[in-house]
Amino acid sequence: MAQLFFKHGAMNSGKSIEILKVAHNYEEQDKPVLIFTSGIDTRDEIGYVSSRIGLKRQAIPVFDDTDLYEYVKNYPQKLYCVLVDEVQFLSKEHVLQLAKIVDHLKIPVMGFGLKNDFQNELFEGSRYMLIYADKIEEMKTICWFCHKKATMNLRVDENQKPVYTGEQIHIGGNDSYYPVCRECHENPPL
Ligand SMILES: [Zn+2]
Repeated sequence: MAQLFFKHGAMNSGKSIEILKVAHNYEEQDKPVLIFTSGIDTRDEIGYVSSRIGLKRQAIPVFDDTDLYEYVKNYPQKLYCVLVDEVQFLSKEHVLQLAKIVDHLKIPVMGFGLKNDFQNELFEGSRYMLIYADKIEEMKTICWFCHKKATMNLRVDENQKPVYTGEQIHIGGNDSYYPVCRECHENPPL
């Protein structure tokens, strides 16, 4: 039975490599998959899923007016799985389209992304994935500064100073993010 999966994890928890692995496993058995990623201009190239260990491949960028359900429905090939990277950046409408792919087209959909932003608010896409997904799984990684599990993302500016206010998505910024535990988010040893 097809299901909607939400696999969330902090930065560097291996989400992109997992997408590439799942796609590879299907394709090895001649089962085509489709990979979507957000069309938002972060520092990654638009239209690619890239992992920190160097593997990357093309994906279909999702923009505000992209209808994921129609795209999959009209795809000229039978699909065995739909994979979505950066699912946190999708809108509520996009998440509902993903649910419709599962329910109407009976194709499993796996969305990967961050749950909370650097201010510990849910991203829109993640909020609705939490509500609509059949299965929710946490991808674990350890805190950048200590040994605890990382559940949050710390934004730092170009001077490595922690940032706690500002836009949820900082396009073109020079900030970077660390996976951190709750304590190190509040009081990072920087
Ligand atoms: Zn920590």
